[in-house]
Amino acid sequence: MPEVPATPVAGSRVPFLDLGAAHAEVASDVEAAWARVWGSGRYVGGAEVEHFEQAWAHQCGTCHAVGVANGTDALHLTLRALGVGRGDEVIVPTNTFVATAGAVSLAGATPRFVDVDPDTLLITPAAVEAALTARTAAVIAVHLYGQLPEMEGLARVAARAGIALIEDAAQAHGATWRGQPAGSFGVAACFSFYPGKNLGALGDAGAVTTDDASLARRIRSLADHGRSARSKHEHVVPGINSRLDALQAAVLAAKLPRLGSWTRARQDVAERYRRALDGSAVRPVAVRPEAGSAYHLFVVRVPERDRVRARLDAAGIDTGIHYPVPCHRTPAFLRHACGPLPVAEAAAGEILSLPIYPQLPASEVDRVCTALEAALAGALPA
Ligand SMILES: *Cc1c(COP(=O)(O)O)cnc(C)c1O
Repeated sequence: MPEVPATPVAGSRVPFLDLGAAHAEVASDVEAAWARVWGSGRYVGGAEVEHFEQAWAHQCGTCHAVGVANGTDALHLTLRALGVGRGDEVIVPTNTFVATAGAVSLAGATPRFVDVDPDTLLITPAAVEAALTARTAAVIAVHLYGQLPEMEGLARVAARAGIALIEDAAQAHGATWRGQPAGSFGVAACFSFYPGKNLGALGDAGAVTTDDASLARRIRSLADHGRSARSKHEHVVPGINSRLDALQAAVLAAKLPRLGSWTRARQDVAERYRRALDGSAVRPVAVRPEAGSAYHLFVVRVPERDRVRARLDAAGIDTGIHYPVPCHRTPAFLRHACGPLPVAEAAAGEILSLPIYPQLPASEVDRVCTALEAALAGALPA
């Protein structure tokens, strides 16, 4: 039978993400921050950056935060500062944004991809244990979609193997595990403040949190041309320019007081989705009872995903796929692939990210669910 396109619903589309809605809430604070930076004459580093770094460290429950230019540099500079490089392997879940693996390559090390948990689609202690070799130097625990993986198990495996546990918390601002904030588990944690993240700048920005003062100092130096803390013209290592702009720091500081309520609003959206989809053929990615997910994304698994997605699009619902190709199957990393990783490969064909952002109205969540049921009914063979 030929595919009959779903009838478009009259009225507006449901956007995947609406940054304008968040910005409307903070407009006056952001404008004040903007004016302050404009008048300060200091546009890279300086007091605005120091203020945000302290606020971010406080938010994450760590002693230090180092602002950098983006999340990828946060990861890559953390690895370099830990001495991870050529000849070393870094264990990475294959189901992640490609930057996790890209950062490992940037540091000169080799990403060693592992499969993920079938329910949460996150890295597991067992997979890390099985992938350890004499060359393993670190593991990156990715808090994908906003959920932390099993942190005690990962910490135990890392400690026993004598390797560094690094958090990729780029999707997990405000997330917790047993009540403890993301960013405070690993030797260091790496954040992105790309505009679409749960706490987003007006451009690229990132940070590393850590309790290790010496590590923080080395990352700061690497991000600032390898400068020593003593002298502007003493370069102790070959570094890069990955500093945080004052404007981005000021904007982030202005938005930070909202992060808690925005996270709760995302959790409410997710809860409404879960209730509405309960008993349907749509399976939301599981969230463990220990995890307080920050719901950067609300990901479900659906049969006939591509057809369902096309029907949702025709019905005015924007969706995403995070991510359509596991890292070990992307051309950039094929040479590091080591055998099939079946859970992630199967999931890549089924996952669908539904619209989620703090200001998404409940009525729109209901509209998405209704359209999803209709799309499924039409997409599945009778
Ligand atoms: C966004 C993201 C990154 C990279 O951050 P950028 O700021 O875009 O460089 C790394 N890891 C994950 C999981 C991400 O979602």
